[in-house]
Amino acid sequence: MPAIADRLKHVSISASAAMTQRARDLAAQGIGVISLSAGEPDFPTPAHATEAAHAAALAGDTKYPSMDGTPALKAAISRKFKRDNNLDYDASQIVVCGGGKQVIFNAILATCNPGDEVVIPTPSWISYADIVRFAGAVPVPVACPQQTGFKIRPEDLEAAITPRTKWLFLNFPNNPTGAACSREEMKAIAEVMLRHPDVWIMTDDIYEHLIYDGFEFCTIAEVEPRLYDRVLTMNGASKAYAMTGWRLGFCGGPKDLIKAISNVNGQNGGGTATVVQAAAVAVLDGPQDLLKERAAIYKQRRDFVLGKLAEIDGIRCHKPEGAFYIFPNIAGLLGRTSKGGRKIETDTDFVMALVEEHHVATVQGAAYGMSPFFRISYATSMEKLDEACARLSQFCADLR
Ligand code: PMP
Repeated sequence: MPAIADRLKHVSISASAAMTQRARDLAAQGIGVISLSAGEPDFPTPAHATEAAHAAALAGDTKYPSMDGTPALKAAISRKFKRDNNLDYDASQIVVCGGGKQVIFNAILATCNPGDEVVIPTPSWISYADIVRFAGAVPVPVACPQQTGFKIRPEDLEAAITPRTKWLFLNFPNNPTGAACSREEMKAIAEVMLRHPDVWIMTDDIYEHLIYDGFEFCTIAEVEPRLYDRVLTMNGASKAYAMTGWRLGFCGGPKDLIKAISNVNGQNGGGTATVVQAAAVAVLDGPQDLLKERAAIYKQRRDFVLGKLAEIDGIRCHKPEGAFYIFPNIAGLLGRTSKGGRKIETDTDFVMALVEEHHVATVQGAAYGMSPFFRISYATSMEKLDEACARLSQFCADLR
């Protein structure tokens, strides 16, 4: 058989996708699996988004899109950046892509040469390292320990930067820990970056609106305007507006970088579907109350799950400020054996035994670069969370 490209040798299939698939397989056998593994809101897409897409299709807005985004959507994104982040990005500083993931992919392809380094605060979203490797660049993880609330320590960041560093990635609120940064913490990161003028900064703000207890979201280009020319501010419709299947992401940044990203985007898909862009205008310009209403529901769920986890011996949790994830530490459970006879040596053993024996799907911390932890996504109903916590609790109580 003709050979597959070498660049794919280092790109893995995502462990969360693998776990979601395992849950589906069990469900297909008639087993009642509760999935806490997908990073996906359980809410529906707002009706006004669907209606706008429908209207656009009926009106004949079905020709090739402008490759970097329609003027109407870029204008809506520009208003969003001003309204939510106090950032000024005009139409020449914005690109629309097929999801936040494609923004990152395009940006890395547009900027990284083989051997360039990308500093990634870890634990981190699985895809960052794979995308970086795809471009022949090198992911450089920097541990954000549980003791610091999973935030990056400025001295660790400083130590990770070398003459080969091309990017720093930031993602707070974070997948998988839910950790968010205060202004002071973001300022400390910015102080380090001011000393390294040859490094771009990608801030993945996709969980911006999922933040609780009055914690205030902040983003680095606004916190430190002297970095504005080196920051790519990324966001999208997936998490805030429950539009994961629509594939809509965007970014604002310096003109030259945006032009390069736009060039890659032109070849990589050729622009985002016109009707999806129409839906995005509707949600970005439409009523924003749903963001707070949904955040209140997520907060309730987070507190409920945290309460249940606190009652389980051997599990230690940090209270996350945002996103819809909890990242419990299971160091206290390693070395034990499950009721079904599975030895729990690692967090991967733990999540596999949990899904096979008690049919609750979660993802091992190893997939995000930190062990021994596991990720719970609480973007599901209270009933399911209640049942999942009861099963988890029983599973842990049965460990010997
Ligand atoms: N960034 C992070 C941190 C994520 O968790 C995800 C989705 N899991 C994305 C980006 C990608 O979002 P999108 O659906 O916009 O591609």
